[in-house]
Amino acid sequence: MPEYRAPLEDFTFLLQDWLSVDKHYHQLDLQGFDGELAQEVVSAGAKFAQDVVAPLNQPGDEIGCSLQEGKVKTPPGFAQAYQEYVANGWNAMLGPEEYDGQGLPYTMAVPVHEMLNSANLSWRLTTMLTESAVLAVNRHASEWLKETYLPKLVSGEWTGTMNLTEPQAGTDLALLSTKAIPKDDGSYAITGSKIFITGGDHDWTSNIVHMVLARLPDAPAGVKGISLFLVPKYLLDAHGQPGPHNAVSVGSIEHKMGIKASPTCVMNFDDATGWLIGEENQGLSCMFTMMNDARFQVGIQGLGAAQASFQGALDYAQERLQSRAPQGPAKPDAKADPIVYQPDVARMLLTQQSLTEGCRALSLLYAKHMDIAHFGSDKDKHQSQQVVEFLTPVCKAFFTDMGLETTSLGIQVFGGHGYIREWGMEQLMRDVRITQLYEGTNGIQATDLIGRKLVRDQGEKLNTTFAVFSDLVTAIEDPTAQASAQTVLQNWHRTSLACLDMPSAELAGAAYDYLAYTAYSLLSVCWSSMADVAARSDNKALSTSKHQCAHFFNTRILPRAEAHLTAMKCDLPTPQAYTANE
Ligand SMILES: Cc1cc2nc3c(=O)[nH]c(=O)nc-3n(C[C@H](O)[C@H](O)[C@H](O)COP(=O)(O)OP(=O)(O)OC[C@H]3O[C@@H](n4cnc5c(N)ncnc54)[C@H](O)[C@@H]3O)c2cc1C
Repeated sequence: MPEYRAPLEDFTFLLQDWLSVDKHYHQLDLQGFDGELAQEVVSAGAKFAQDVVAPLNQPGDEIGCSLQEGKVKTPPGFAQAYQEYVANGWNAMLGPEEYDGQGLPYTMAVPVHEMLNSANLSWRLTTMLTESAVLAVNRHASEWLKETYLPKLVSGEWTGTMNLTEPQAGTDLALLSTKAIPKDDGSYAITGSKIFITGGDHDWTSNIVHMVLARLPDAPAGVKGISLFLVPKYLLDAHGQPGPHNAVSVGSIEHKMGIKASPTCVMNFDDATGWLIGEENQGLSCMFTMMNDARFQVGIQGLGAAQASFQGALDYAQERLQSRAPQGPAKPDAKADPIVYQPDVARMLLTQQSLTEGCRALSLLYAKHMDIAHFGSDKDKHQSQQVVEFLTPVCKAFFTDMGLETTSLGIQVFGGHGYIREWGMEQLMRDVRITQLYEGTNGIQATDLIGRKLVRDQGEKLNTTFAVFSDLVTAIEDPTAQASAQTVLQNWHRTSLACLDMPSAELAGAAYDYLAYTAYSLLSVCWSSMADVAARSDNKALSTSKHQCAHFFNTRILPRAEAHLTAMKCDLPTPQAYTANE
């Protein structure tokens, strides 16, 4: 099992040099926040991820979760690590200050999230959903619900879940049938079954707060008739403490390909007491507050797995002796050379590294705009919110697709040993596979990008995002690098604008390739910008590494963008193409 080491040098470079967080916090007038504090938060997060969470990863996969007398038991050490996480205030990092949260900037929290995901995807998943639930309750719930539930959710004393999926209603939530009947006391009786509910039950906390989508009796059909309810596992007593068990139970837990230490539950609601969040029949848009946050966070899961796989593969490639290096013996006294000297192994490692570090850069640029969307002036807020909205499906789908590619490459670098459980490389690939599916499959992210983010406002979010990346290009000092980055960005912008005139069915067929084309183009700009900034760094090793990775990305990976562009322009065959043999 590779031992996880947090990529602190890269975080330092990105936060201090590339994003200049000192200046960023100053511009946002965030008193008390500076680069030094960011460094301290990230270093402390690294220690927690490495020392507390990572050692639980492989045993958690081996032991998994079980359902005993209707209660979920998580693997040994998971609950204790969670209690340490809460006691150290990690759960409250992003929580609103009026409910005892720390209100940290996203640029400080996102690196911590990445490290937790690298260390242990299963463990991180439950804490991630609690943070997303806090956002929805804070934005949409009544004052009473907020005062009653938010302090406990923010601190992590209780966790949150997201209950959308039903057997007949996965992607298409218009089909959901869980019912909510109004009661005289202002609460609702919730009845129905939800499947695949992450953290639906566990042994970490004294209560669990379920966010449940359901229909009122006279609700309109489809998504316009969905409402959101807060349904606690235990109803609260007069002192706000968990009292009688609500009518919520776990039917079963799923046996899965990966994230075996995360309980995925069938949840049954039998006249369970719940309270409305937001307006009646507006539940989907309230749930989107939670889902949009979770979508970016799932992207960070892909990134975390990619980093863990890359460093495992790099360590192994430096140790494993096989064959002589084609450029001449690297270790003449040994019987063979480390495989890291094989050009094909270098190709795999650089693919992992350039994708991982490119996605990390994009994740922190996204975090910077989350900061501005939260703490900036009204005009800046609006623009950064547009950038965040445009980039959310890109980060979710591309980072998780790259998570799968890089973890597969990690196995490949290990050869047959990568396929054997004890090395931990196959677990990373099994664990990361779900990230392409949940929180809206990656196909749905692509339709979201073209439908809601590109076409709906006729390119407004696109143009704001283009302006942000244009600023990165303008700041590149090397004229050749600047000209190349300019060409990549302008071609992408021109193609994006042309999409606005495409018929919608054609555009739906081009959506996935458009998302990939977008991601490769924007990552290329990030790489050119990073290499340029790194060239001025005193850290020569980092400067060389960034320069070479940028070159590798722009010459070996960026050509994939052209392939996606070509594919976008080709018609899809009709379904008759694959039903011809029936
Ligand atoms: C481990 C795990 C944890 C999960 N955790 C949660 C959770 O906590 N809460 C929760 O509510 N759900 C959860 N889910 C459910 C998950 O979000 C759904 O599985 C996912 O949204 C897809 O729904 P589905 O499985 O029904 O697939 P379907 O909707 O049946 O989709 C099947 C295929 O058809 C494609 N497709 C369907 N409709 C369209 C369309 N309109 N356009 C293009 N393509 C389309 C999809 O992209 C997919 O490839 C979890 C699932 C798993 C496996």
